[in-house]
Amino acid sequence: MKLYTCEQCHAPIKLSILKGNVHIVCPSCHQKYQLNTMSVKKYMLIPFVSVAIAVSSSLQLLQGKTIDVKFIYILGVSFVSAALMEWLCVKAGILRYEKSEEIG
Ligand SMILES: [Zn+2]
Repeated sequence: MKLYTCEQCHAPIKLSILKGNVHIVCPSCHQKYQLNTMSVKKYMLIPFVSVAIAVSSSLQLLQGKTIDVKFIYILGVSFVSAALMEWLCVKAGILRYEKSEEIG
């Protein structure tokens, strides 16, 4: 999964699917970045949007299926669509990073 480019050394920074991406670190020069305040607010909405997509699509696609199947489908789809939305929002410049002064 990609990619944000380091402002300092222009190395590509990979986005993590599992850990969340409010804070990222350049693998090359170790410059830290964080989402700016506006972006954090948008970032917090992503899980809600992805669950809404998963639930509404399960209602259409999985009519008559058992609750277990729906549950697994909703978990899987919301996980994948959240990761995808994060990536798209960063690529589209909806989520923006700023340099973090934080040490450690
Ligand atoms: Zn860098």
